[in-house]
This record gives sequence, structure tokens and C-alpha cells, in this order.
Amino acid sequence: MLRKKFPIILSLACLSIFLLSSYVAFAQVFPQRWVSYKISSGKLDLAYNYDYVNSGAYSSAEVVAGANKWLNIGANVLLTPASYWSSDVILREVDYSTWLNNGWSQTTLAWTLQIAGSKPCSNDASTNVCTASDTITAAAIYINTAQAPGLFSGDKRQALVAHELGHAFSIAHNSVIGQDSLMKNGAWNDSRFSYTPTNPDIADVNSMYHP
Ligand SMILES: [Zn+2]
Repeated sequence: MLRKKFPIILSLACLSIFLLSSYVAFAQVFPQRWVSYKISSGKLDLAYNYDYVNSGAYSSAEVVAGANKWLNIGANVLLTPASYWSSDVILREVDYSTWLNNGWSQTTLAWTLQIAGSKPCSNDASTNVCTASDTITAAAIYINTAQAPGLFSGDKRQALVAHELGHAFSIAHNSVIGQDSLMKNGAWNDSRFSYTPTNPDIADVNSMYHP
């Protein structure tokens, strides 16, 4: 059922990817991979939708610009905007009261949930319940609108979209030393956080999806 593709989980308190977390990730990629029919000629080929990025906190253009950061940089991934039910990844803004009612941290900017069939992976590296035997069929990116405009720039909003999409691909936070990275642990509290994917990020994608 398509209805089950993006389970309504806004009433559940889930652990999450914290952009502001000081959590140290050991793995740079999660063990679970996207379903094989989403991989074309060695590239992860995902459609995404932003119908529910509609509060005015983020713009459609920022979502597209964030997604496009992954394109034409040597990463084996394709991202194409599509209608909601044709999409593999949906982005959804969540208002602050709903965010808090869900039990989600006030300071969390956004989090990404990979879904293997009907199984949510809860993919913080510390709580991820999916394994190499799980096959990702969808992902949802939840954005806390209270943390959006005024608190950071459009450049950061684009970077946040790109960062969360990285989690949707199955990239965890990294703790690479001496290199800038979009998927840096601690994200932009880290001086080496990059607003665009860099070589470590591209290498992580290409370690999972390649010809
Ligand atoms: Zn993150």
C-alpha cells in the first residue's frame, strides 16, 4: 500500500539524527542499503518531494538547491523532484508545537527516517535498528520550522537539506579529522562542517553505490 510508504509517525517519539548533537559516530555509513530497483547503472536514483515544505520557513528553491549539491560532483547518486506518491524521499516541515508534542528535542533542526518496507530504522547510529539484511524503500526528512528562518541563513538551510539527504542515502555522521565534510559529526557547530559534500562524503556514497 502506498499509504504505508511514508508511515505517519508524527505521534511517535523517535530518536533521531541530531544536527547539533555531540554524539560521536563510529560508522560513516549505515549497514542498510536502498532497494536494488532504485539503483541504476551503479547510481542510487531517488525521486524526492517537498509538497509539505510549505510553511514559508524553507523555500522550494532551497530544497532543490540543497538536493542539487549532490549532483555532478562524482557521487553515485541522482535526485529528481517528483510528485508525492511517486517519490522515494519526502521532506516535510513540522511546526514547533507538533515537534515538541512528538517528544523531539527543541534544538534538533531536522531528522531523517529511513524506512525498510514498514520498518522504521530510527537511524541515529546509536539507535539504528536496521541491518544489512534490511532494504530501504523510502525515507522521510522532518524539518523543525521553529529552528529555520532568522536562526540561520538560506545557505545553511540548503546545507541542512543536503545533510539530511545524505542520511537518507544511508550515510551516518563521520568524525574525519582534518577534512571538511557535510556529514560531519556535530554538523555546523564543527568548524570543519562543509555546506556542500566533500571527498569524504562522496567516498561514503560511492562505497555503497557503485557500478
Ligand atoms: Zn546529521
